[in-house]
Amino acid sequence: MTTQLPVLPAARDTRGRALHDLRISVTDRCNFRCVYCMPRAVFGPDHAFLPRAELLTFEEIARLTAAFARLGVEKVRLTGGEPLVRRELPELVRMLAGVPGVRDLTLTTNGVLLPRYAADLKAAGLHRVTVSLDADDDDTFGRMNDSRAPVSAVLEGIRAAEEAGLGPVKINMVVKRGWNEHAILSMARRFRGTGRVLRYIEYMDVGHTNGWRLDDVVSAEEILETVGAAFPLEPVPPAYSGEVATRYRYADGAGEIGVIASVSKPFCGDCTRARVSADGQLYTCLFATSGHDLRALVRGGVGHDELDAALNSIWAARDDRYSEIRTAETAQLPKVEMSYIGG
Ligand code: SAM
Ligand code: SF4
Ligand code: SF4
Repeated sequence: MTTQLPVLPAARDTRGRALHDLRISVTDRCNFRCVYCMPRAVFGPDHAFLPRAELLTFEEIARLTAAFARLGVEKVRLTGGEPLVRRELPELVRMLAGVPGVRDLTLTTNGVLLPRYAADLKAAGLHRVTVSLDADDDDTFGRMNDSRAPVSAVLEGIRAAEEAGLGPVKINMVVKRGWNEHAILSMARRFRGTGRVLRYIEYMDVGHTNGWRLDDVVSAEEILETVGAAFPLEPVPPAYSGEVATRYRYADGAGEIGVIASVSKPFCGDCTRARVSADGQLYTCLFATSGHDLRALVRGGVGHDELDAALNSIWAARDDRYSEIRTAETAQLPKVEMSYIGG
């Protein structure tokens, strides 16, 4: 009788955290210029985006994903930049949907290109989408994303995703003091009772171009007080360990919201996420200053076992817990940009 043993034991980092989630940035480009992510003053017409030859090909992404899945990754999220500006994205989805071990394949998008792609993405095997929307009035939304897209374009994207079977849709709203906190309640009102789950995200000091200051952060506590005063809330236990959003339900049964308190209540202890940039650098933390060059490995002809061993040893050496040790000083250190590493 033969017994099948796993190729490698499940990867654990120095803090005992397993590797479960992989976020893959497929492009550093975007059709928006959100003030907290790609401020136009920095990402203007002269900004040098990655040349095409430096992007991982779909085959390279699929090969890396398969290696990550062998180490325990079950959830894969495509992100960017704006993932839907990468040409032929449904083809990549089709390839990743076929990777053994990948049980959850999702996409984070600003939504405006969903009416064009939602049906193809679903047919290719995408499971769900998360759509970012920072306000539900055109004026505030336009100031946050610094583009001409109206709120209705994103709402159409959300509808297209639902019609294609990519729901229930989660909505991400980054809250920045003085910019959109007045929309906290109107967004809650708009999405209550729709089956869509609104998640408020504390503004983070990712990258070093957004001029982040602690004073700009509207804390999860403040957000919950604002929503709870109008619509009483009850806590909901996490659906699984390592869930980034803390969940609440409306006491009147109108659904759920989430808060992602990455600044005020860091969750590094449960962080099981690895990130790969569009040019194939592996980052073991959103706030890392440098990555590990997986593209060089793959283009250098690395074998399967060797690739698995390399990923395993990078993960095994991981010690990151940036949000737990954040200070005003660390916030000013150079870090990779969110649009490059993916959210
Ligand atoms: N373009 C897509 C989008 O906006 O959904 C995907 C990439 S975006 C970098 C992923 C997520 O990161 C978005 O929900 C965005 O709002 C969030 N994000 C970007 N910069 C952020 C910041 N400084 N603090 C908190 N969240 C941020
Ligand atoms: Fe683009 Fe998303 Fe960053 Fe906004 S948050 S600039 S939509 S990548
Ligand atoms: Fe994970 Fe780094 Fe965020 Fe902590 S700061 S939760 S280690 S990505």
